[in-house]
Amino acid sequence: MSDAAKPSPDEHCRLCGHTCLARRSAGDRGRCGAGSLVGFSASLQHYGEEPPFSGGEDTPGGSGTIFFTRCVLRCVFCQNWQISQAASGTDITVEQLAETMLELQAKGALNINLVSPTPYVAQIAMALNRAKNEGLTLPIIYNTGGYDSLTALSLMDGLVDIYLPDAKMAPPAASDPDEPDSQSARLLGAGDYPKINRIALKEMYRQVGPLRLDSRGLAYKGFLVRHLVLPDNLARTSEMLPWLSDTFGSTVHLSLMAQYHPTHLVKSQPEEFRAYPGLSRPLSIREYEDAIDLALDSGLENTFIQDLESAVNYLPDFNRPKVFSH
Ligand code: SF4
Repeated sequence: MSDAAKPSPDEHCRLCGHTCLARRSAGDRGRCGAGSLVGFSASLQHYGEEPPFSGGEDTPGGSGTIFFTRCVLRCVFCQNWQISQAASGTDITVEQLAETMLELQAKGALNINLVSPTPYVAQIAMALNRAKNEGLTLPIIYNTGGYDSLTALSLMDGLVDIYLPDAKMAPPAASDPDEPDSQSARLLGAGDYPKINRIALKEMYRQVGPLRLDSRGLAYKGFLVRHLVLPDNLARTSEMLPWLSDTFGSTVHLSLMAQYHPTHLVKSQPEEFRAYPGLSRPLSIREYEDAIDLALDSGLENTFIQDLESAVNYLPDFNRPKVFSH
């Protein structure tokens, strides 16, 4: 797409499924809280992502991760709530974002990993063009909650090498896809999440295809979908995994995540979530094993399995100098 045909950040914002139409460049803030500048929390070399992104002993450097603030979703159990839903971080310019990417490359990071980028894709596109002109050569990872509009993804087409989306919640079995899902509305802050998510995942896969690894085992192109298994099948894992296999084929790369831990609102206001008792406890080993069995039964061949201990190891704290405890 030519620059002239691309949506301008001056237009009414429709970068996520909310389509709130905020005039951000005119000084308005959107439903997510994003304005005209880029909400930035932290940049670091992350060693806790999946091995194709974080590398290993023979491929040090970690994933060059940039955490953005003001997520478009409102997950009541969000581990990153300090930056996604609370006022924190700083606002930076396109030029500063480009410099941050180049600094991560200079430090030896293996890739640029953009976490919760959705409200900022217009500025990210400009920063990527600028950084690439100044020597950025690393693979670019778009690491998203998966509530991206096709407008947002069109801005990333050709700039992103790897899509790393969440598939947080499937629709109820045999439901009308146009009907809002009350559970997604209550737990994620978007009743149409399952519908928007499925459209977005298909577009991401169309753009980049299956995950490809180089001779060192590092990802340089493609698509890996993450699914966090919730207690009591609240993410509807039993619907999600067969759909992923049916839609993208049995070789699609899946990261089946076990790290659910009660935090944020489900911890501070537990009385509000009595209808979802599973949210008050970590995932059980049995529930995770059942999810692994379902992945196998669905024919999924390329599934990353997580150690249940990671539930504790990977809990971030954005108020610490070192965000992750390991
Ligand atoms: S990204 Fe933010 S400002 Fe843009 S449509 Fe979504 S909620 Fe509104």
